[in-house]
Amino acid sequence: MLTKKTNLFRVLNNVYLKRNEPVSLVHFVTNRCNARCSFCFIDFDDPETFKSELSVQEIEKLVKSLGKSLLNVNLTGGEPFARKDLAEIVKLYIKYTTVQSIYITTNASLPDRVEKLARDINLFSPKTEMTFQISIDDYPDEHDRVRKIDNLFNSCLDTYNRLKKISKNITPVINVTVNHENCKNIKNFYNFLVKDCKIESIKCTIVRDEGVFKTPNEKKEEIFNAYSWLSNKITEDCEKGVIKNYNLKSLQGKLHNKKDKISYSLTKKMYLKPKYISPCHASGLFGIISAKGIVYPCEILENKMVGNLRDNDMNFMKVWNSEKNKEIKKFIKDTNCNCSYECALTYNILGNWRYQPSLLKAAFTNY
Ligand code: SF4
Ligand code: SF4
Repeated sequence: MLTKKTNLFRVLNNVYLKRNEPVSLVHFVTNRCNARCSFCFIDFDDPETFKSELSVQEIEKLVKSLGKSLLNVNLTGGEPFARKDLAEIVKLYIKYTTVQSIYITTNASLPDRVEKLARDINLFSPKTEMTFQISIDDYPDEHDRVRKIDNLFNSCLDTYNRLKKISKNITPVINVTVNHENCKNIKNFYNFLVKDCKIESIKCTIVRDEGVFKTPNEKKEEIFNAYSWLSNKITEDCEKGVIKNYNLKSLQGKLHNKKDKISYSLTKKMYLKPKYISPCHASGLFGIISAKGIVYPCEILENKMVGNLRDNDMNFMKVWNSEKNKEIKKFIKDTNCNCSYECALTYNILGNWRYQPSLLKAAFTNY
């Protein structure tokens, strides 16, 4: 539900017409991470990677300038819990922006820190919906080997189970990234998560080329087949009630479920043979803030920097409304830019008239 601090008319006007304020942001709060996954996009060998992340004081200035349409922020990294001041950052978003929900993506290696933050934020703002996306990609030994942290799988389950007990507004979700290492095992692994580990919320993404990571070409078809199977199975099990990603009795739950279905289907259409299907609203409705305060349209266009917040007194909207960003939006439109990056797809579905009839139909469907 939209809370009082958000003006519904302004949000709708922005999403469908103006598209000049972000509705969702991915904020990389740090590049530091205690894991070393084989498919990570971060260049851990470059000492510059870890230098000069934004301070809480700089983030306070930034969040005060994010416009009035922001509904969601995804705090990620690196490992966001590597920052001991993460709770302060979350509180700044709640206090000074119009966010309705906050996502934190974590490798869940620090269950005490995760639980403490969730309880702290739940006391600070009980109505804020928080989703913790816990990355698990394989069976315990393999997961720990690929991520290079001992006992990580068990730590993920521990974190998941602790978060489940806190409040209905705190949701832990297991996120499986289908990649070249786990694609051969995906069916058994999914069943293991649901039946043996009793996981009730599962989503999936497909690994993408980004930063220093490039998918081995010979593995792409196998990755695609595994992702197709898993995304279909998740949708089916969600509608049967085997897993409970959303409350399918609520309007919001039905819309989210349909949005996921459309997003999975678009990803499948674009992964092996990239092609343009519908406009991308990155740089309008959606954007990225790096750990050092650089704004980008998305995670893929790394050579299209919108601006440096530090050069602009941390004023986000000044950077967002700049001539540079207008040029980037024009580039995205003129080149029919396309990719299967799920974070942007969500807001491309939301902001596109083409998908509204099927979303509306889903709102009146009984599962
Ligand atoms: S947990 Fe995430 S940020 Fe850390 S190494 Fe793995 S993919 Fe990279
Ligand atoms: S289509 Fe993909 S690469 Fe192009 S702007 Fe959108 S998210 Fe970025």
